[in-house]
Amino acid sequence: MMSEEYLDSFCRYLGRIKTTRHMLLVAGLFAAVCSLLSLFSTHFILVFVGSPIEPLVKFLSYILPFSLVFASSFLLIRGFSAVHTKNEYLWEIAERDDLTRLVNRAGFLRRGRNLAMKAERDMSSLSMIMFDVDHFKTINDTRGHSAGDMALRHLSDLLRQICRDGDVVARWGGEEFAIILPNANAQGATIWGERLREKIAKTPFIWKDRAMCLTISAGVTEWTHEGDSLEAMVERADKGLYLAKAAGRNRVHLLRNHLETVPAFEQDVMFSDEQGTPGHVA
Ligand code: GH3
Ligand code: MG
Ligand code: MG
Repeated sequence: MMSEEYLDSFCRYLGRIKTTRHMLLVAGLFAAVCSLLSLFSTHFILVFVGSPIEPLVKFLSYILPFSLVFASSFLLIRGFSAVHTKNEYLWEIAERDDLTRLVNRAGFLRRGRNLAMKAERDMSSLSMIMFDVDHFKTINDTRGHSAGDMALRHLSDLLRQICRDGDVVARWGGEEFAIILPNANAQGATIWGERLREKIAKTPFIWKDRAMCLTISAGVTEWTHEGDSLEAMVERADKGLYLAKAAGRNRVHLLRNHLETVPAFEQDVMFSDEQGTPGHVA
């Protein structure tokens, strides 16, 4: 039946409404149509009744249904608006890391999937950098946990300064960070990673009147356009990171080949104040 088809397509349409913004638009249009319909229906009823009525009654017959529909639609839209604002706020706090205010792992993966889909569709470049602070535990052990927290905030401030709008910068967990660089190929991302490494190594942060420097080890990888996935990218960048650690830390490793293996490496090199090496106190 014709009406069932209309009902079916209307339900399918409602199912396609994914965002609150879209819902608001639909509710606004619906409200406008309902208000106009109420005006027309009043008009036709009055014309149909035909008998002369008081101008005041006539005026009220028009204005009352219209005002009621308009006011209830307005309240409905305001309600949707409030839900929308609340939803955005909840998304924001659910996807932010408390300490650094960077995006957390869940936010990184959601944004990353969208960027990966876009890169695949446009056949554009997309790269990922994953880095880990060298000998971070030693900062906690020698200067205290608050110094460690301060170091993480210092790093996130540097990242905010260096990264472009459109890059996704996340605290992956602990003292590990992940960045997605849209429109950057492997070579560009490696050069950028080197610059980031140098900037971090050369920018001390102050803790109790003492300047401390950090170094990082980073893994870089590029979207392959050959059935790649964000999870596979994370795995490769992580592997690159561990290869950078294995090669002596304070360096960037580009992982071109999926089959590169991760050798065992020395984990317990001490953090040093005196040598001016990674993690030194200036
Ligand atoms: P490596 O060079 O091999 O990465 O050595 P590392 O000492 O950096 O690595 P390890 O995994 O041994 O230590 C990481 C430390 O980071 C241990 C953990 O307590 C600390 N950490 C993780 N999250 C936080 C945090 O939010 N604040 C502080 N202060 N420390 C943290
Ligand atoms: Mg570390
Ligand atoms: Mg770590």
